Amino acid sequence: LVSRKKKPEDTIIDIKGEKVGDGNTHYVVGPCSVESYEQVAEVAKSVKSKGLKLLRGGAFKPRTSPYDFQGLGVEGLQILKKVADEYDLAVVSEIVNPAHMEEAMDYIDVIQIGARNMQNFELLKAAGDVKKPVLLKRGLSATISEFINAAEYIISRGNGNIILCERGIRTYEKATRNTLDISAVPILKQETHLPVMVDVTHSTGRRDLLLPAAKAALAIGADGIMAEVHPDPAVALSDAAQQMDIPMFDTFMKELEAFSTRK
Ligand code: PEP
Ligand code: MN
Repeated sequence: LVSRKKKPEDTIIDIKGEKVGDGNTHYVVGPCSVESYEQVAEVAKSVKSKGLKLLRGGAFKPRTSPYDFQGLGVEGLQILKKVADEYDLAVVSEIVNPAHMEEAMDYIDVIQIGARNMQNFELLKAAGDVKKPVLLKRGLSATISEFINAAEYIISRGNGNIILCERGIRTYEKATRNTLDISAVPILKQETHLPVMVDVTHSTGRRDLLLPAAKAALAIGADGIMAEVHPDPAVALSDAAQQMDIPMFDTFMKELEAFSTRK
């Protein structure tokens, strides 16, 4: 059902008026983890000032180590919702457990399914059973075909509002955290009718590569960019090495103006 052969025209996903897949460039921006109301509000203010709509933040964090910060859970979702309401933004946040899906509906506008859960089939089914848009990330070592099949799990349950997100894959290369598979973007655009975004933060894992990676993504046809922004990345409880601070995000957006499409 996600195949372009079945549906030649692009799918456009309406998220509180932001129409992802409409040919314009869309940005999903916010901290890696929700840490406090003040932290999220500071980023939201900056997001809003740029005319952007989609605010991200992790409340349930899938961390490699059990001793790392695991996220604020529902309290994190409540913070996101409060801030989003104040700034008229839409919330994108990861859900890791099918049992949380229903409760999360009260707080979030887009369900993010993270790389580590791309083949959590029960979670995919649960996301397919609700009507909210889903931002599905590519698994750490998933082929494009496996990625497309994961989206098929969601659409086959009745929810076709899916944004695909390339976020880098694991290769032997150690210079970046993951290897951004830039050619996945046009392949996914050709093979499916779904919008495709590129997460420049988790793919590169390097602050100095965020801008060039975003330019490449937009040049090759991505519908949007995900990037992490934190008021003070040095003290961030996760991904301190690659989140942008607000002045850097200002520059990032300015530099991308020429590469973005705004109809
Ligand atoms: C995230 O976007 O918060 C995240 C954990 O990314 P990924 O699932 O791509 O690692
Ligand atoms: Mn992160």
